[in-house]
Amino acid sequence: MTAQLIDGKALSEQLRKEVATRAAALKVKGITPGLAVILVGDNQASQVYVRNKVKACEDVGFHSVLEKYDASMTEAELLARVEALNNDPSIHGILVQLPLPKHIDDHKVIETISPAKDVDGFHVASAGALMVGEVGFKACTPYGCMKMLESIGMKDLRGKHAVVIGRSNIVGKPMAMMLLAANATVTVTHSGTADLGAMTRQADIIVAAVGKVDVLTADMVKPDAVVIDVGMNRNAEGKLCGDVDFNGVKEVAGYITPVPGGVGPMTITMLLVNTMESAERAAG
Ligand code: NAP
Repeated sequence: MTAQLIDGKALSEQLRKEVATRAAALKVKGITPGLAVILVGDNQASQVYVRNKVKACEDVGFHSVLEKYDASMTEAELLARVEALNNDPSIHGILVQLPLPKHIDDHKVIETISPAKDVDGFHVASAGALMVGEVGFKACTPYGCMKMLESIGMKDLRGKHAVVIGRSNIVGKPMAMMLLAANATVTVTHSGTADLGAMTRQADIIVAAVGKVDVLTADMVKPDAVVIDVGMNRNAEGKLCGDVDFNGVKEVAGYITPVPGGVGPMTITMLLVNTMESAERAAG
């Protein structure tokens, strides 16, 4: 048996077209969705991520601002920049690329972003809104995973058991909340879970968000399960790979997401969706 692929790239393209159409409609009213991205320091991976985000904005007709600062920027200076963007009506979304230099408290920075412009969905207000089912911005990576499930007809997950591997604030926990909101029965596992395989073998849906190669192998997957691989790792040959043993698991699962070309492109796409949503809300 070979699993069907959930193609994040193709789904992203389709969703980005929809965003571009919405952006064009808003432009007629004189409003261009605007995203500001702040990068502090010269982390190589972060530079690539922000470039991709800015390019994605341009492709859908958004106004984007990339603010790059030296690693010596002080916390007070960064907070002042965030405040200025909070008050800038041409900006609908603010993203501060993590990780920040060690002398800056990233929690303080994220909490300074106005919840109305928190398109990354990392603010405590956004996490709280998700928890209690109120309107807010959903964290982009798990939001993208939910869209991938929807794309294979899995929108209402009543009767399904979902197992999330990982409990970070940016992926695992919001993922669990979104699955719960979609009526799944959810189990959250982590490094303290005694027998991970015993959990995942019960799952109709598995979301792996760990950051370790081969955390999920074929013997840990129920036939026909849906496997979503959030992980981004380098294997022994230096090639980009996920948390899932793709070649093994694809022989058991019903659906599987590849790495690269799976969750990765969806994360940026959902950032665009959130920014679009923010601009529409601001326009009333
Ligand atoms: P993180 O903050 O390091 O969290 C990893 C989680 O995995 C933790 O909750 C940890 O448990 C758990 N864990 C570690 N070893 C485990 C094991 N052997 N069995 C079960 N759980 C285990 O990482 P993250 O930020 O959530 O990111 C996870 C992965 O997703 C990384 O590879 C990251 O690069 C990738 N990612 C990809 C995208 C994308 O767009 N594709 C976006 C974000 C992240 P404890 O809590 O007990 O330590």
